[in-house]
Amino acid sequence: MTRAEHIQALLEDYARQRTLNELDEQRRYNEAVAKVPRIAELRAESASLALNAMRSILDGRTAEDRAAVAANMKARGLAINAEIRGLLRQNGLPADALEPRYRCPVCRDTGYVGDAPARFCDCFEARLRLRQYEDGSMAGVDEQNFSKFDPEFIPEADGQRDKMVKARNMCARYADSFPATEYRNLLLTGEGGLGKTFLLNCIFERVTSRGFSAIRITAFRMFEAMRQQHVGNDDKYEGFSTLIEVPLLLIDDLGTEPMMRNITVEYLFTLLNERNAAKRHTVIATNLTPKQLMERYGERVSSRLLDKTICGSIQLKGKDLRQR
Ligand SMILES: [Zn+2]
Repeated sequence: MTRAEHIQALLEDYARQRTLNELDEQRRYNEAVAKVPRIAELRAESASLALNAMRSILDGRTAEDRAAVAANMKARGLAINAEIRGLLRQNGLPADALEPRYRCPVCRDTGYVGDAPARFCDCFEARLRLRQYEDGSMAGVDEQNFSKFDPEFIPEADGQRDKMVKARNMCARYADSFPATEYRNLLLTGEGGLGKTFLLNCIFERVTSRGFSAIRITAFRMFEAMRQQHVGNDDKYEGFSTLIEVPLLLIDDLGTEPMMRNITVEYLFTLLNERNAAKRHTVIATNLTPKQLMERYGERVSSRLLDKTICGSIQLKGKDLRQR
């Protein structure tokens, strides 16, 4: 994909996000009104205030009259807002229950900031960089989703097919219930060619099509983001912090990234630790066994990867599907 195509795709993602925001706001409004019908009356009155002010201007009254009308309108508007907030609180709802909520409050999910000529918001630039990172290493993943899963392609011998069907179901449950998943994290292990990347991409596809923000990245690209952050030669570089902050991070092929002193283990620890502390979801696919994870990354990292209280584990076994 070219940069222009990435920008186009991202703008569409932002437009979807704004639609979701509106639906969410409407849902919260409906819930509040169901509990407190008076709120609907107040909202209607608030909407008619501006209309009445407009009428008074059209009526051709004097400037003093218009100023008085505007002052009354402002005072009444504030009183209405205060009454709504009070009603919400009295009924056990947060006072800001009806306020808009944004994934990025800076650009209000438009992707742009500033007056014309507007520039892309930092959140947009960071997503754009990550998309370009992913590109190339992730060719063809757009076609990978749960509906493409066909058990017929998997050998029945040694229970390989059963295992894969179970794994597929677990991943689909995870993606469907996100963010209220049974386990916050998932670890997919097994040798190459068993379908781990496919499942990872399926989760990504399902979760993002449900409107949540997610990043899928190969371990190699993740390492690049860490290295850039480490050398700090680009102040605007935010790739690594985006990896920390995204609600769902999917890392493919952990263990194939370069091992660089002061970077790989340290930054991976920071990444996992910060994400765990903030209760964000992480899905990791790796060819490494638990023992190899321990040897490569040490106790601090591997204990976080293998923590059974927050991490569901899927172990694939069998014949390489690519060799069939
Ligand atoms: Zn933004």
